[in-house]
Amino acid sequence: MEGPVGQKEKQQEFTLVSVSDLASSSLESQSKPVVARFSNDSGLAELRFHKESESAAAINVDLRTARIFKLSSVQSVCLTEGSDSTEEKTSYSRGVTVQFRNEEESRAFHCAFEQWKEEVLEGKPLPNGTISATKSKFDDKIEASSAKMYFHYYGQLLHQQNMLQDYVRTGTYYAAVIENRADFIGRVVVDVGAGSGILSLFAAQAGAKHVYAVEASEMAEYARKLIAGNPSLGQRITVIKGKVEEVELPEKADMLISEPMGTLLVNERMLESYVIARDRFLVPNGKMFPSVGRIHMAPFSDEYLFIEIANKALFWQQQNYYGVDLTPLYGSAFQGYFSQPVVDAFDPRLLVASPTYHVLDFTRSKEEDLYEIEIPLRFTASVGARVHGLACWFDVLFNGSTVQRWLTTAPGAPTTHWYQLRCVLAQPIYVMAGQEITGQLRMVAHNAQSYTLYLTLMAKMWGPGAEQGGIIQASSCKLDLKEPYYRMSQPQAYPLAQDQQSHPLINTQDIQIQSQDFEEAELMQHPSPNSGAQMNSMAENN
Ligand code: SAH
Repeated sequence: MEGPVGQKEKQQEFTLVSVSDLASSSLESQSKPVVARFSNDSGLAELRFHKESESAAAINVDLRTARIFKLSSVQSVCLTEGSDSTEEKTSYSRGVTVQFRNEEESRAFHCAFEQWKEEVLEGKPLPNGTISATKSKFDDKIEASSAKMYFHYYGQLLHQQNMLQDYVRTGTYYAAVIENRADFIGRVVVDVGAGSGILSLFAAQAGAKHVYAVEASEMAEYARKLIAGNPSLGQRITVIKGKVEEVELPEKADMLISEPMGTLLVNERMLESYVIARDRFLVPNGKMFPSVGRIHMAPFSDEYLFIEIANKALFWQQQNYYGVDLTPLYGSAFQGYFSQPVVDAFDPRLLVASPTYHVLDFTRSKEEDLYEIEIPLRFTASVGARVHGLACWFDVLFNGSTVQRWLTTAPGAPTTHWYQLRCVLAQPIYVMAGQEITGQLRMVAHNAQSYTLYLTLMAKMWGPGAEQGGIIQASSCKLDLKEPYYRMSQPQAYPLAQDQQSHPLINTQDIQIQSQDFEEAELMQHPSPNSGAQMNSMAENN
């Protein structure tokens, strides 16, 4: 049977055991099954029940007023409000009982019913091109061209494979789910942005009663295939193609599972979809996997990186490029290179202060809280150094009732496909050991599913004259998180000798990560992808 509706489909059919009009005729099935067909052939979305290959004796249901109720796991009743059809203006409602072949088909029918109905009511784009009256929350804030590229990207198996092959990522999800079976057994789960459906399959393995796998890209079709090919788990999973902001589910969920993290946690703005899904689908006090994310930050010193970036702009210092003076564009090119955050795996010994972190609580944050995030910064330099900028990474928590597990992307921890991110200042600042470094990181969401970053770092001047005035050195930069510089030709791993500490003062992985978890994560580590070739300009995330 066809799965639930995708917005592009013109019609959708379901095979039923029987349908009967409460008031009159019944389309009982002796030989031929009854077909339920959602369509908008006439420009008006309707549901039509008829016997296979017979269009006479059909029952038509107006989706504008129709509602559906479950009588049992395989039987439902569909009610429409009465219309003033007779001359006396008497209004009669209509009821149709529907018998499904099994519970799974009943669920899929209910999903389709709600989705078709929502499209009719909200005047969303219907397959025949009916103009949309209201746009969804997603469409309101995201540029259509960005969303198109984004979902095209995730619609391709190779990019899902890239995420699946991040064994730190996928292995940590697997461990977190399987170790916390108690949170899944007998529960209704929604997989927010299911991709290939892998997390839905994990949830089913852990004993979920039913999983709704919601995926907006064409990957939903592949997820259906993968899930159908794993029937013992698949019978408890329904794939729903559409955005979590738009689809309707037939029941509330006890738990959400998702992998909505992009570079610096927030890139792609999928965390907003995650909290919208929470408000739309999750029962009060339901669980979220993950429930919390933290952005960690520390100043770093990396002369090689600084020179590498500055040198890129040198091209524009040529005064005779085929007879043309390029120098008028040197300043812009220099600025352009410093507006790209750098994505690579760096040695934690480059950090010059203990990191600080900012918590995002997915169980409480409002969607709007993620539009602008301001993080005050305060560090104490552990060494005298030239500070070239701010290094950032993130972790997320699976707060299981049996085991708490962190997925970390910290430098020095097993590398993930997120690597780490560094914001490089065009004007470095100088610090002495023990000196305070202050500043701010402000992240402002934009409609291309990413953020503009505003970084300021400050330290008191030292050297001659510093005592007199306490003059402040301040350096700022503005970066576009959507346009990172993938610096993957650099060595990925920084193996440290047994007796070598990552840094005398700095432990990037934090105490919350249990040592036993860390060892397992190391065991699961896969040789990290060897080049940026695996990550095109969108590929950084998830
Ligand atoms: N859960 C999968 C895929 C994670 S990638 C895994 O862990 O391997 C994130 C997925 O979410 C992508 O496939 C993307 O298409 C989907 N997605 C992003 N925003 C979405 C939204 N608003 N509604 C539905 N799916 C979305």
